[in-house]
Amino acid sequence: MLEREAAKYPFLTEAAKLVDALNLQLDDLASPAYEKVLDRAAERVVQAIEDGAVDDALDDYMTELLSFPIAVMFVSAKGEPFLNRRYALAEAVRVYFLLQDEERDKLAQIARDDFGWALKDSGERYDGVLHDFRLHFHDYLRSSSSFHEDKWKLVNRIVKNGYVLLTQREVARLIQGEAEILIKDRLKPVKINLPEPIQRRLDRVSKVFEENRTRLGGEGLPSEVINEAFPPCIRFCMEGLLAGRRASHMERFALTSFLVTVGMPLDSLVDLYTSVSDFDPAMTKYQVEHIAGVKGNRTKYTPPLCDTLRTHGICRNKDDICERIKHPLSYYRIKARRLAYQKPPLPPQASNITQQSQ
Ligand code: SF4
Repeated sequence: MLEREAAKYPFLTEAAKLVDALNLQLDDLASPAYEKVLDRAAERVVQAIEDGAVDDALDDYMTELLSFPIAVMFVSAKGEPFLNRRYALAEAVRVYFLLQDEERDKLAQIARDDFGWALKDSGERYDGVLHDFRLHFHDYLRSSSSFHEDKWKLVNRIVKNGYVLLTQREVARLIQGEAEILIKDRLKPVKINLPEPIQRRLDRVSKVFEENRTRLGGEGLPSEVINEAFPPCIRFCMEGLLAGRRASHMERFALTSFLVTVGMPLDSLVDLYTSVSDFDPAMTKYQVEHIAGVKGNRTKYTPPLCDTLRTHGICRNKDDICERIKHPLSYYRIKARRLAYQKPPLPPQASNITQQSQ
């Protein structure tokens, strides 16, 4: 396997063999020559925690390849099942993006050699859609068993002579699922004494994980939705929607993931979109349920960081709370607490008034 291929798909057996052949020990990795590798390993896990996806940087093949097993070691050393799931999914999402632009032959090779699928070229077009591949229905059923959207049900597929027709993107999505399982399998709890340079990166990962644990779990949020505590960016998205402005993908994602996380019922959320815009109701429902983790890969998405919203031009009308936080949910928690303190005290009960006037 070429270094470039191994860097793209470091979870594959051949890539692992390339790393093994180098016979690197922990003390080797602690030397200054591997600083970049250690930094990238920590970055992989941090991106998984903060963004839910590892980026597909490929500027330095060896760094990409070697950083993967070290990132796996970092996650294993944490021994947090939640982090295991998040990291495996984030790496698998990276694979999905890479596979969509991959040569068809390469995609097919991975499917056949690494997963043993009976995948063949197709090139058939139905309803204007090119189906690049066909996959034996046994393999299809196994690899799609955790997908819950209707489009993956066998009855909704075109099946010819025992083979399911698939687009390249769909094959990439199926491989994403297999990659996630493979990566998760590698995440076994380990207790290990690490040299200082490696431990320092693990400490950084731990810090980011602890800072985000509450956000990712949605802990500490008010038990009911408090509209007045919404951050300015979310107000901006919501007001735009209500005013009929065409919302960007990121605006819709930020708004939906925020409202889901603070506890707005999904039906109300779908109604919000369909009542104020010309969105397709079925598609809106699907997208909302996908973000809420009810459909698709069962991942409940949380709103992006302020930095990300800023990049997309959604960070608007900042106020004093914005200066103190890095995430819209932190804003919501602080503002909700503030509002609770500002509430006027309840009027005394009738019995108390009677007692006071006596
Ligand atoms: S700083 Fe964060 S919470 Fe405040 S408006 Fe910008 S993105 Fe929203």
